[in-house]
Amino acid sequence: MRFRTYERDGTAGLAVLADGRWRDLGQVSLIDLIAAGRVRDGTLANGAPEIDLATVRLLPPIPRPGKILCVGLNYVDHAAESPYKDVPGYPTFFARFTSSLIADGAPIIRPGCSPELDYEGELVAVIGKPARHVSEAAALDHVAGYAIFNDASVRDYQFLAPQWTPGKNFDGTGAFGPDFVTADELPPGAKGLMLEVFLNGQKMQSANTDDMVFPVATLVAKASEWSTLEPGDIIVTGTPAGVGFARKPQVFLQAGDRIEVRIDRLGTLSNPVANEVAGGL
Ligand code: MG
Repeated sequence: MRFRTYERDGTAGLAVLADGRWRDLGQVSLIDLIAAGRVRDGTLANGAPEIDLATVRLLPPIPRPGKILCVGLNYVDHAAESPYKDVPGYPTFFARFTSSLIADGAPIIRPGCSPELDYEGELVAVIGKPARHVSEAAALDHVAGYAIFNDASVRDYQFLAPQWTPGKNFDGTGAFGPDFVTADELPPGAKGLMLEVFLNGQKMQSANTDDMVFPVATLVAKASEWSTLEPGDIIVTGTPAGVGFARKPQVFLQAGDRIEVRIDRLGTLSNPVANEVAGGL
């Protein structure tokens, strides 16, 4: 099943796709539905009115995940183009804050303090059931579904210090959505899916999710060694080669650009780029 979270008149709601039409579930949160184990409930749309999503504002599928765990250097060719060169022996987990998230269609914000805004197309795994000390073999039982992410990064700030928190947490840089798709609609672990990124229509990244160094099951198992993963937490699984700062010449996002991340069977995450307005977004 496929869901979108939206906002209308200041209130969030949830839509589900049924028989090719979006149906309005009203003021239901996707996290609550996931925690209740109901995201594969085929009766959810029964009696729900149709909704025209063009008349509302989309939000990220989960606007405020409890945790946003991102993974760096999770594709061999991207690690090779990075300053680190080699793939580490353990996943490079880092954290994003919910305040950095934006929806499909919202502008990625190019900050006034840096010219080095870059894109990173990625697959998201959404936790369904609490996970603590789970094995790799059992890990996918704890994944409710998948989505698309653009881990837009401010490169000079990312590398000001040995850890990446500032450069990965600028407001308006974590694009997430538009759809949450339940795991049963995808291959196990969302393997074998093409992931492509287009900048103003030009292909910049192209890879297969099979190319991940640490696949979804491994990431869930490893993270659950040190943290309780909870329903609605997301794991942003890393980007392949082709990011802007590794290109010669380098390519950075400019106001007026449009950046799209496409993943097989998940859809397209599309965002324009806009300059930060002095004093806030
Ligand atoms: Mg990334």
